[in-house]
Amino acid sequence: MEKYWTPLARTLTPYVPGEQPRIPNLVKLNTNENPHPPSPRVLEAIRAACDARLRLYPDPSATRLKEAIARRYDVRPDQVFVGNGSDEVLAHAFPAFFQQDRLILFPDISYSFYPVYCGLYNVPFERIPVDAQLAVQLADYQRPNGGILFASPNAPTGIAVPLADIEALLQANPDTVVLVDEAYIDFGGASAVPLVARYPNLLVVQTLSKSRSLAGMRVGFAIGDAGLITALERVKSSFNSYPLDHLAQAGAVAAIEDEEAFTQGCDAIIATRSRLAAALDALGFDVLPSSANFLFARHPAHAGTALQAGLRAAGVLVRRFDAPRIADYLRITVGTDAECARLVEVLRPLVQAA
Ligand code: PMP
Repeated sequence: MEKYWTPLARTLTPYVPGEQPRIPNLVKLNTNENPHPPSPRVLEAIRAACDARLRLYPDPSATRLKEAIARRYDVRPDQVFVGNGSDEVLAHAFPAFFQQDRLILFPDISYSFYPVYCGLYNVPFERIPVDAQLAVQLADYQRPNGGILFASPNAPTGIAVPLADIEALLQANPDTVVLVDEAYIDFGGASAVPLVARYPNLLVVQTLSKSRSLAGMRVGFAIGDAGLITALERVKSSFNSYPLDHLAQAGAVAAIEDEEAFTQGCDAIIATRSRLAAALDALGFDVLPSSANFLFARHPAHAGTALQAGLRAAGVLVRRFDAPRIADYLRITVGTDAECARLVEVLRPLVQAA
């Protein structure tokens, strides 16, 4: 079969997403989805858009959505790019900004899609080690590069990067693009969006999947200088000129405009996160300081594989990464209070066993 494949198809190492089993009653804390439903206004907007207009192609420039994002983030619509989840926004950023003959830099512990895009677009990269506390130290990125990419808050650690460090990095790197993946920024950490006005090489990527409970709708966006946005649009239109379908555009506008649902939703997750962190701490876990909708935690006396398997046997899914330094950590999505209580109830006898 592979005889028909290109060398590229043979060498790709695709991203493996977290499991999405359709088994009832699972406590699913493995893929950082929001446990609360999206704003009712989003569902109304999608219903209202669901009519004969589906016959037509959607707005290729997503004008209403870009205007809504621009208003919300205090930028101009030509500083906004939208795509099918922030994964697609990131995917378009690679051929737009990163070259095949210049190393890009990203943390050694980070979102595992980054090396996948490098493989797809043949972009060489160097992984910069995170520090002893597993935090990204941007001072270590002061070296020649073809671009810099990191997530803040980082995944899977949840640790945010200080805004002052991001600004220092931008000042030291005026000639290459600095891409900040802010998929989890609404749960903590300071957003780099206000820096966009002063740094034409800064691209900030966000998503509606987490803080706006819309992972199933697939909408992400980037905010940056209009020059960067034009490059992204050129790449996008060379793939598919209609990145977002008509229903997703309608739903996304409503999500961005429902500030009250957004704030309440984020506050609820942050409150549950503190309670869960305290409960894990009481069980003897080392819990990293999280600014995201998940916790990254390990127990000094128990292997991550065993804890994950024990949870799974009780119907509780969490994520774990087979990577150096973090193999014993569990990445636990902040679910509802009831889901988190169930997780703790299952963990207690597992960690108390000799
Ligand atoms: N960036 C990071 C750091 C993530 O963890 C994720 C979610 N897995 C994404 C981007 C992509 O999210 P989405 O495509 O749903 O916007």
